[in-house]
Amino acid sequence: MRATGRAVRLALGTALLCSAGLGSMWAAPAYKTKHVFIVVMDGVRWQDTFGDPTHQFIPRLWNDLRPQGCLFTNFYNNGITVTRQGHSTLISGTWQRASNGGARLTMPTLFDYYRDETGAPAEKCWAIFGKGAYAFAPYSSFPTYADKFAPQFVCGGKDTPWNEQNADGDRGVLEKVLDVMKTDKPDVVFVNFGYTDHAGHRAKDVAEYQAAIRNCDELFGRLWDAIQADPYYRDTTTVFFTNDHGRHTEDFHGHGDSCEGCRHIMLLVLGPDVKKGTTVDTPALQIDVAPTAAELLGIQTPLATGRVLTECLAEPLSLNRKEAVTDTARQAVALARLASRDMLRTAGEYVVKSMTIDQVPADLAGELLARGMLRAARETGDQRFLDWAIGWIEAHKTKEAPAGLPAAGAMLDLPPEKLTDYLPTARAVGDALLAAPDALPQSLPQRTAQLWAGVFLGRLAKAARGRAYADSALARLTHALAMPSPEPSTLDGAVDLLLLGQAAWCFPREEAVGKAYLVALARSLAGMKEVGGLWADPTVSVLNVFAIQAASEAGVLRGLAAKPAKTAPASPILDALTPWELAAALGGRVAKRPEAARKTLSTLIATRARQQFPISVELLKYNVSEAGAYADGSAMTQGVFLLAWEQPAWSYGGDSPWPPGKEPSQKVAAGRGGRQTGTQPPRRREQPGRAESGQGKED
Ligand SMILES: [Zn+2]
Ligand SMILES: [Zn+2]
Repeated sequence: MRATGRAVRLALGTALLCSAGLGSMWAAPAYKTKHVFIVVMDGVRWQDTFGDPTHQFIPRLWNDLRPQGCLFTNFYNNGITVTRQGHSTLISGTWQRASNGGARLTMPTLFDYYRDETGAPAEKCWAIFGKGAYAFAPYSSFPTYADKFAPQFVCGGKDTPWNEQNADGDRGVLEKVLDVMKTDKPDVVFVNFGYTDHAGHRAKDVAEYQAAIRNCDELFGRLWDAIQADPYYRDTTTVFFTNDHGRHTEDFHGHGDSCEGCRHIMLLVLGPDVKKGTTVDTPALQIDVAPTAAELLGIQTPLATGRVLTECLAEPLSLNRKEAVTDTARQAVALARLASRDMLRTAGEYVVKSMTIDQVPADLAGELLARGMLRAARETGDQRFLDWAIGWIEAHKTKEAPAGLPAAGAMLDLPPEKLTDYLPTARAVGDALLAAPDALPQSLPQRTAQLWAGVFLGRLAKAARGRAYADSALARLTHALAMPSPEPSTLDGAVDLLLLGQAAWCFPREEAVGKAYLVALARSLAGMKEVGGLWADPTVSVLNVFAIQAASEAGVLRGLAAKPAKTAPASPILDALTPWELAAALGGRVAKRPEAARKTLSTLIATRARQQFPISVELLKYNVSEAGAYADGSAMTQGVFLLAWEQPAWSYGGDSPWPPGKEPSQKVAAGRGGRQTGTQPPRRREQPGRAESGQGKED
């Protein structure tokens, strides 16, 4: 067995002390705690638990457990107050944004740190969830960890005894926990009791929600009793009883915003190292649970942003110093440092330093790189980036077609004061294309070349307000769309989608273009590594991301609903898809019921290309090298990365400032399901899914 960080430190410490003549009696300081349980009562407000002066719904927690532990009276979820974020935050010690039903959490978990550092097998870590797979992903998308240290995991479903449907479902969760305590003797256990939240959403009468709390309170008591009755766990186990989020202060049905009721939640800690019968009023946050659990286990949480809640410890030992003590952790910390750079500046500087103008030929890739540099110049204000792009345009500009196409395509992205100088040249290239409809770049497949020329003419029509350019653009695009399309999720497929996305940006209301884009988009989304993430090839990923951004900026994805509700606004393009086109999009046979296929398609695009999209964009950052190259650093990938990269931004809370009017101190109007959207500060471009960030399903 390999030496773990902990063992090495211990051995080293012992050796030093022995050589100093202090004898062999010395042992590394450690807590009595050897096992940790984090146990969640889903979606219950502080005002319904410890904040209720009568404590009528939590007799076990109040009368039996509280005197044995430490109660935090100012414990908050300051992130996005829905189930998946709450649990992801509890287990990672970082604010998380993954929506229900969507992308994985983005940072490593307590399971990762524990298994990596101790060498423990998977069955020593268990996540038992009463809610469905939409509510939690047991491992993250963080590259160095990914699924290497995943825990054992079960989640609720209609055919499982543990589920969120009723009080029996919660009892099923407890049974499952007791079961694995006997069979696997896990050391890190994460449990979700889901019925309380389900009852809150569904109940007509608040009494049903209150009864669910009371039921769960009893189960918490039984779990603690079972731990104390088991020789493996007795007096060596610390339990964190908590919530993922609360519910609106004014209306218990819903949750998901920044009101006091949604954010103020319970934290009761019990265990052999915890002060008994104490109350802590200092503010504590949901990100603090994982670092505190790690402290008690004597392991490190190098990437967690929370703190160790020493207030509840009888004798704090400062074991969790957030150091990277394993190879995986060291790689992770290095990667996190690289990923925290100003990416547009970093990637732009890579081009300035490593890619001379004459190395980048006049082709589609060159055009995209020059456009990427213009975007980076616009965003960062870095004059060198603008100079590079203009230098490249100058080196390759000509009024001929198709030779002048790449430089002319780049010219259209110049800042207005420069565009005035170059527009006549771009128009000359457009006129040459009008005069010679068969003139096409020779190096590309026919369809790609025709799409590229069509996109250029479409962009020129917007810049120069020329009807003739628009007509010619549409003629070329229509011609191209009649040709067979490449396989999705390949490089050719991604280039095709990128051009279709640009075409849809030029002509958002043109049915043929929109349909071709939606079909190609759906085919490529099906090839994602997993729901709400990226594709296996980083170049394919960045091209697809830009294709989604371009089209959604023009509103093409509007009307595709995450919840295909009756009230969802119609998408005329979606409605126009024929049964054959729907079959092509979904990779299946012609549907007997096209409406059902339409719904499937709408949901696929809504969840992966809108709702989860900010996470997909965020994950791009892990493909940027120390030098600043995205993936292979070719002109195409570097250029499209410069076009596509967005600094991740929060809807509210977490590590970011709260938008005006939504600060926690402010009373937020909280109606049933009251979504807090549309208060974003204006952004450079409409981010698909931004409005729904964290709002897939209100659970
Ligand atoms: Zn929840
Ligand atoms: Zn609320």
